[in-house]
Amino acid sequence: MELLDKLAAQLDGLRDKSLLRTRRTVETPCAPHVTVDGRRLLAFCSNDYLGLANHPAIAAALQEGVARYGAGSGASHLISGHSRAHAVLEERLADFVGTNLIEARALYFCTGYMANLAVLTALAVGDKSTEIFSESLNHASLIDGARLARTVVRVYPHADVAALDALLTASAAANKIVVTDAVFSMDGDLAPLPELLAVCERHGAWLVVDDAHGFGMLGEGGRGALEHFALRSPYLVYVGTLGKAAGIGGAFVAAHRIVIETLVQRARPYIFTTAAPPALAHALLTSLEIIGGDEGRARRTHLQGLVAQWHDGLRLQRWGALPSQTAIQPVVIGTNEATMRAAAALYEQGLWVGGIRPPTVPDGSARLRVTLSAAHTADDVARLAAAVNSLERS
Ligand SMILES: *Cc1c(COP(=O)(O)O)cnc(C)c1O
Repeated sequence: MELLDKLAAQLDGLRDKSLLRTRRTVETPCAPHVTVDGRRLLAFCSNDYLGLANHPAIAAALQEGVARYGAGSGASHLISGHSRAHAVLEERLADFVGTNLIEARALYFCTGYMANLAVLTALAVGDKSTEIFSESLNHASLIDGARLARTVVRVYPHADVAALDALLTASAAANKIVVTDAVFSMDGDLAPLPELLAVCERHGAWLVVDDAHGFGMLGEGGRGALEHFALRSPYLVYVGTLGKAAGIGGAFVAAHRIVIETLVQRARPYIFTTAAPPALAHALLTSLEIIGGDEGRARRTHLQGLVAQWHDGLRLQRWGALPSQTAIQPVVIGTNEATMRAAAALYEQGLWVGGIRPPTVPDGSARLRVTLSAAHTADDVARLAAAVNSLERS
């Protein structure tokens, strides 16, 4: 059939460019050591930065949540799906990050992807006088949210505060929205949030911060990028995701109560979808307790030790390790082919590292995306560093 032939030809084209993606099926819980196709592997590719995805207390809380609230929510939040579990979680989240916001409320979403679509469409939609200013390395969900907002989108270069300032100065828009990742997902570096916020306040612009990789990780209490930089402002709209460091799934937006009420009333990705199972929200209370307590602090300290060890252990000449201080530790190789060959060679040795290609990263900067977790040991990291070093020289 002609239609299928066209799709098949497209897939062949991806294969030719080493861009075809494949899925591996994991038989065991998310952890450093997993079983794939009957093989034991040491994995460095999850975003389970604190090692909470298979934490016994969180798994037990999930079971308790099921016993108390059942399996599904049955409806969207505005119909009958808004459970006490969701309400309690939102209060807890607002308290958790609220010191960095003004009159904070929080809203729980099924995924971070949806939360980002919701924020950008609800702050912008229907308003032709809106312009969105988007950082060039932003996550796909922010790019899609900006597109869905159906308004002018201007992209500013990575971490270039002066360029953003110039774009804002040149803009006549009455409603300006600046949006950035806090920790860049494929580079591991931090956005210059204090400088960005100062520029936004000067121009009367919102600053939407997507802290998918910072929530749980940054700041003394794990409260994320705003705590790390000690920022506080009514201009801030904070998005945290709960499937990475928090170990479960979903996301939240925290902001001034009027922003949150606007999302409840207007954000289609919030309104037209079934509420997440309440048991997830219930289990997330235990995640938050761990993140904010002594155990979370100890896990973050252990991870920082692994990051230092990783940098000390690498001996690279052709490939480039980015200077990241977060759990995201990319090794830039260059071509798609060489990157996938390196990932395959590591896999042969029982080491699972993700190879990242365009369009996720710019052309010519394909890379291994090593992610470290508090669940890794020093021996795990030493083993990977040795393998990467010898592979680079081969
Ligand atoms: C993972 C991620 C998201 C999406 O969050 P999900 O909960 O996985 O949908 C959004 N933004 C960034 C920067 C991310 O890394």
